[in-house]
Amino acid sequence: MIFNKDEDRKFAWFLAENCPITFAYMIEPIEKDVPFLPIQLSIDVGPGWFPLVREASLKIEQINRVLQLQGVTTIQVVQIKEKYGTLCYYTNYCNNEIDAIIEEVEHASGMICESCGGPGELIQQGWWRTICESCEEARHHGN
Ligand SMILES: [Zn+2]
Repeated sequence: MIFNKDEDRKFAWFLAENCPITFAYMIEPIEKDVPFLPIQLSIDVGPGWFPLVREASLKIEQINRVLQLQGVTTIQVVQIKEKYGTLCYYTNYCNNEIDAIIEEVEHASGMICESCGGPGELIQQGWWRTICESCEEARHHGN
């Protein structure tokens, strides 16, 4: 994730604040006025997929809260990226429940424009990407 864009920064903060267990690898406690700061650049997808990442992350965080109460090892995100045109959401540990959550959003990403979040199509030529017509048009015009 590129942190020079406000939208990316806001999203990283959202994840850090709302999913502190799940993103424990990506946050670091600092000053008292600023309780933590997302440090890792391991989230690298376009804003169109933020809702998918948010959905999966909030669900995993809920599972983590239960695991933590049970004193069981929790699950952390290690990387979120685009690969072959779809979303890849990697955790350090998986079970059937986590697998199902991740599979659902990864599958959905193949139908959602990574750029704008509108209905998109997986284009399997050149650099594989899931994109809508108008974003694809804009891409060709260098915007
Ligand atoms: Zn689009």
